[in-house]
Amino acid sequence: MPPESKTFNPDSTDNLLAEASHCVKCGRCLSVCPVFRETGRETEAARGKLSLIESASAEEIKTSSKRLKEIVSFCLLCGACAEICPNLVPGDAIIQKARETFNSKDNLSLPFKLTLSHILPFPARMNGVHKAGIIFHPLLLKKVPSESGLNWRFPFPHDKKHRLIPELTDEPFLKKYSLKKPPSNPSAALFVGCVSNYVYPAIAEAVLDILQHLEISVFIPPEQACCGLVAFGTGITGIDRKLAQKNIAAFESTDPIPIVAFCSSCSSHLKNYSELFEEKEWRERALKFSQRVKDFSEFLFDAGFQNQSDLKPVDSSRRLTFHDPCHLRRKQGIFDQPRQLLKSVKGVKFVETGEENLCCGSGGSFNLSHYDISLKIFKRRLRSIEKADVDTVVTSCMGCLLQFLDGLYQENKAIRVKHLAEILGETFPR
Ligand code: SF4
Ligand code: SF4
Repeated sequence: MPPESKTFNPDSTDNLLAEASHCVKCGRCLSVCPVFRETGRETEAARGKLSLIESASAEEIKTSSKRLKEIVSFCLLCGACAEICPNLVPGDAIIQKARETFNSKDNLSLPFKLTLSHILPFPARMNGVHKAGIIFHPLLLKKVPSESGLNWRFPFPHDKKHRLIPELTDEPFLKKYSLKKPPSNPSAALFVGCVSNYVYPAIAEAVLDILQHLEISVFIPPEQACCGLVAFGTGITGIDRKLAQKNIAAFESTDPIPIVAFCSSCSSHLKNYSELFEEKEWRERALKFSQRVKDFSEFLFDAGFQNQSDLKPVDSSRRLTFHDPCHLRRKQGIFDQPRQLLKSVKGVKFVETGEENLCCGSGGSFNLSHYDISLKIFKRRLRSIEKADVDTVVTSCMGCLLQFLDGLYQENKAIRVKHLAEILGETFPR
């Protein structure tokens, strides 16, 4: 009989230790952990982390020792260990909860902490920061001569690599669209997410075009905020819940229509909101919200996008593959839908790379805190893409998209990366 699935309860240190103790040290997770594969250090696979968490002294846990904080930072929360574990140990969930426990002692850098606690939860402040970014970025960023269209490299103080960060948009998507009259009888509500709102509004516009093409009228609640996944991943207690409450309240008036999110990390986190709350009232409100959430690929597939016969063919020289975001494939179990949607496009040569399970190395804030390892993980994914002779990588997570854009730039590759909506949006006349 398969073992019973375990749900992690973060309430106490005892629970943290108890969950970690379910690991039987078989070592299967080592073979799939992207971090362990690159570093070869046992402490960086789930087995090593869980073992160290388990063996940590109560004092170390209470004081959030430097050693523990560092150990739990080496994780993408990709879920590969949980997927392969014969004892159904939720390695990623335990590590996330361990971060919550160890990070409670204010160990994060001040700017990061200020951003997460005093800016992210407040859309008006986010807009203020965006305005400041627009004014100051010409002073901070240099134009990169690249035909990718991407455009800026940012000299991070301790970063020798000059990672790419894209240009901020002049007008956030939500601001622009909140001026439009909402439809009287919408059939879907759109969750936009920070990257699309401030950096890639064109992707949100492509999503809107596609939905309108399918005659789905869309309402975009203006009060929506960041989904909270980055705060959740770093373990900063409370901020993720504050953001979840804002979003739940913002979408409540649209009940019961589906809430469509086109970043798979956002849709995955939105679907899990109810797990953030202990209080009955918020748990129930969150559950109602989460049950309405659909990832864009799932929603389009259910709406029958792939069955249209009048789609315009796209550039037939393209060899496309779909990069599965961990938050889509592992956390939502969605694999077929984006493939069926892409295969329905005339002119597309869809290829699998044979390494669909590989993470791209983004991992929320992992690629900020462990940039070199993150790039090595990316290179492994890139090798499989090059072997398959792919010229366009399609994905549906903004974190993966940014990781690919930077990784391809660092490796000087001419491969394109596109959001699913950008490819599907090319298939009908405007
Ligand atoms: S696969 Fe599961 S039981 Fe085995 S070492 Fe990893 S976490 Fe422990
Ligand atoms: S969640 Fe991913 S990165 Fe973290 S320990 Fe598990 S396999 Fe490794």
